Amino acid sequence: MRYISTRGGMPPRSFREILLEGLATDGGLALPESYPRYAPTDLARLRTLNYRDLAFDILSRYIDDISATDLKRLIDKTYTASVFGSEDITPLRTLDTLEGGLHLLQLSNGPTLAFKDIALQLLGNLFEYVLAENKGELNILGATSGDTGSAAEYAMRGKRGVRVFMLSPLGKMSRFQTAQMFSLTDPNIFNIAIKGVFDDCQDIVKRVSNDESFKTRYHIGTVNSINWARVAAQIVYYFKGYFAATKADTDEVSFAVPSGNFGNILAGHIARMMGLPIRRLILATNENNVLDEFFRTGRYRPRASAEVHQTSSPSMDISRASNFERFVFDLTGRDSALLRTLWQAVDGGSEFRLADTPLHEKIREFGFVSGSSTHANRIATIRDIYQRFGVMIDTHTADGVKVGLEHREAGVPLICLETAQPVKFADVIRDALGREPDCPERCRGLEQLPQRAEVMDADTVAVKDYMAQHCA
Ligand SMILES: *Cc1c(COP(=O)(O)O)cnc(C)c1O
Repeated sequence: MRYISTRGGMPPRSFREILLEGLATDGGLALPESYPRYAPTDLARLRTLNYRDLAFDILSRYIDDISATDLKRLIDKTYTASVFGSEDITPLRTLDTLEGGLHLLQLSNGPTLAFKDIALQLLGNLFEYVLAENKGELNILGATSGDTGSAAEYAMRGKRGVRVFMLSPLGKMSRFQTAQMFSLTDPNIFNIAIKGVFDDCQDIVKRVSNDESFKTRYHIGTVNSINWARVAAQIVYYFKGYFAATKADTDEVSFAVPSGNFGNILAGHIARMMGLPIRRLILATNENNVLDEFFRTGRYRPRASAEVHQTSSPSMDISRASNFERFVFDLTGRDSALLRTLWQAVDGGSEFRLADTPLHEKIREFGFVSGSSTHANRIATIRDIYQRFGVMIDTHTADGVKVGLEHREAGVPLICLETAQPVKFADVIRDALGREPDCPERCRGLEQLPQRAEVMDADTVAVKDYMAQHCA
C-alpha cells in the first residue's frame, strides 16, 4: 500500500515513511492510494474472528512494509484482555432491542478510560518497533487539555527510544485526568504544567515545531490526531461493532459518533468505503458546532480560538477539525486541485461553501447526517439513559446518544460510540445524577497517589531548555 497527500504534492510513500510524521511534505494529510474493499463473502469470514485477528486482517491491508509475523505480534501484544479489560476489547452493550436495537459500543476500557487508547496503544508498539529497527529516537512534544495527553503517556511509558514531553494548563484539567498523568513515574515521561491556558500550551508546541534546527537536533515528533496509523487502528472497531449488532452480512446499521477533530468518524467513513454496510454516520458535536454546521449547510467555517466555547464535553472543544481535510478529499472525488482551492480560504483564516454544488449532494451519498448538543442536553441525556437502562454514560458519549436518537430509524440498529468513562468527568455526573460516578476497579485510589510535574511559565525558551536537558 502506498500513501499520497490530499494536496497532491508528495511522491507516493510507504507506511513506515509516513508513520512518524505529522503533516505530509506538501502541507496536506497522508491517505492510502485507494481503500481496499471487502466483498460480502469476506464479511462472513471476518465475522468469525476475534478482535486481534480482525485487526490483523484489516491493518495488514494498510501496513505491508512490516512483516506479517511482526505485525501480528505487535497487534497481539496490544489488544489483550489485561490492557482493555475483556477479550472483546470493545464490547457491545445493548440498551434496548426495539426498532432494531439501541447499543453502546464501549471503546473506553483501556488504560486511560477514553477511546483514544485503542489507537495510541498500537501506536506506542509500532513506534518502539520501527525506532528499534532504525536505531532511532523520538521525543514527542504535545499539548493536552486532558484525554490526548494521558492516552499518549500511557501508550509510550517505558517504550525504548521514546520520550514524551506533555504540556498541560496548570490546574485546568479534571482531578481525575491530572491524577492519571501526574502519578506516572516512568523515566521517559515528562509532565510540564504551564501557568496559563490550553492555547498557551499549544502555542509553545507550535513555536518549537517551527524551529527546524531544534526539531532535527532533538528528534522532535508528535502523536496528534492526524497521524494516519491512529485512524487506521480505529477502523477495526466499526467492523467489530457491526458484527456484534447484526446477524446477516447484508444488515445495515447506523453509528452515532461524538466528534471533535474528525478522527473517530473518519475511520467509520473508511470502514464504509471498505464495504461495511453502514447506513448512516451520525456526527454529533457539542456547542462547538463547526462540523455540524458543515454537514447541515455545506459551509465550513473554522472558528477563531476566542470563539471556542469551554464545554462540559471538553475533548470536543475544537476550532477546526484537523482530520476533516481527508474527508473533503474523498468528497471531491480525490481531486487535489479542487481541494487546494477550497483550502486556500481555510488556510487563509476564512471559509468555503459547498451548498448548491454537486459535492454537497455527495455528503448524503456517504451517509453523513449531523446534530449538536448543549450542556442541558447532556445532563438530560445522562439522566434519561441512567433512569431507563441503569447505565451511566459520560458527557461526550451523551452528545452522541442525544444526536443519535434524533436520527434513529425504525428497523436500523443504532450503535452509539462510548468515547470515555463517566469517572473522568465526575462533576457533571454529580450534577446530573446526584451521585458519584462508577469507578472501575483499576483506578481506585488513583487520586491518592503522589503526583509530580514540572511547573513552568508559558515561556518557549524555558520549555526548550528543559527538553534539551532531558533529551540527552
Ligand atoms: C478525542 C475525543 C473525542 C473526539 O474524537 P475525534 O476523533 O477528535 O473526533 C470525543 N470524545 C472523547 C472522550 C475524546 O477523548
